[in-house]
Amino acid sequence: MKAYAMLGLNKAGWIEKERPACGPMDAIVKPLAVAPCTSDVHTVWEGAIGDRKDMILGHEATGEVVEVGSMVKDFKPGDRVIVPAITPDWNSLEAQNGFSMHSGGMLAGWKFSNFKDGVFAEYFHVNDADGNLALIPEGMDPVAATMLSDMVPTGFHGVELADVKFGDEVLVIGIGPVGLMAVAGTALRGASNIYAVGSRPVCAAAAKAYGATEIIDYHNGPIAQQVMERTNGKGVDRVVIAGGTVDTFAEAVTVLKPGGVIGNVNYLGSGEFVKIPRVEWGVGMGHKTIRGGLMPGGRLRMEKLAKLVTSGRLDLKHLITHRFNGFEHMEEALLLMKDKPRDLIKPVVVLAEDLY
Ligand code: NDP
Ligand code: ZN
Repeated sequence: MKAYAMLGLNKAGWIEKERPACGPMDAIVKPLAVAPCTSDVHTVWEGAIGDRKDMILGHEATGEVVEVGSMVKDFKPGDRVIVPAITPDWNSLEAQNGFSMHSGGMLAGWKFSNFKDGVFAEYFHVNDADGNLALIPEGMDPVAATMLSDMVPTGFHGVELADVKFGDEVLVIGIGPVGLMAVAGTALRGASNIYAVGSRPVCAAAAKAYGATEIIDYHNGPIAQQVMERTNGKGVDRVVIAGGTVDTFAEAVTVLKPGGVIGNVNYLGSGEFVKIPRVEWGVGMGHKTIRGGLMPGGRLRMEKLAKLVTSGRLDLKHLITHRFNGFEHMEEALLLMKDKPRDLIKPVVVLAEDLY
């Protein structure tokens, strides 16, 4: 089969590979639409997971099931499904302990384009199909549904980590697609003022549409200073981090009120340590909690988040700015994600001709 792969560090391109085999609990899926992710860029061009040779890229997809294993009960060939980016082994001890994303080891629930081939291929393999796949609900656009693979659950997980409550004032740092979904989740959780940090006008407009009350451009001075000015020096109750660098933590800690929580879903790609400012952290006694996590994945989460869309509470339409028809556009779409032009939020590539 034809696939788009990481050929080595800093190299990506087309390859031919064997179609994957289906185990008893697994499914083989043919993609309907796929989306490149900032994480694919970190993988190829920043060495985020080390070197890989001829590993098929991609972890965001909707697809049509073409084969299921003998033990799969709830899915059959022809079913159109949402495939989560994180596909844990649901009978692992880590999953039983509530941390499915770490099934098999830290971050090991992230299998696509990490421990095995990803979804940018004519066919891909899904482990634990009953635990990981979710049917695309009636009436939902399978192309827009690709946003449920990773962008929606990751942004929303940032909100869960920050434990946003009614009336909270929240700072969301980063308003790429992940941060935008953090803004949407924060609004759904009942926050009052939502300060959103970013600079691309298209992202700022989408952040407003998803519920941001104010946009802060990090080019206009330190984020902490800009937030303090807007909150009469009091700061915020919660911070979700979905962009920036290791240094962003210091800003987040500085603006957090005692008792507040930081939820990080941002990939920290450089620097040996994350520094916590001593005084701003209450000289060790400020009750300022810092959490960071990979989104948990799995079927139930996909089904519930899909219901937010079908019930009209979450609109995915602001996320997709670039749509390509045909697998041959895969490289173009991935390079857009790498170069981040000012008009980009998220590209998708449609593979199923009936969806063109
Ligand atoms: P984008 O690159 O599209 O968005 C990043 C955002 O951060 C933009 O709004 C950008 O602003 C802003 N930003 C950049 N630099 C700074 C800075 N110095 N200070 C403050 N804000 C800044 O990324 P995505 O939304 O696609 O992904 C966000 C992160 O989430 C990535 O690191 C990605 O790897 C990670 N991720 C994590 C997952 C998980 O499960 N934990 C899963 C998927 C992704 P501007 O408008 O100027 O571009
Ligand atoms: Zn992703």
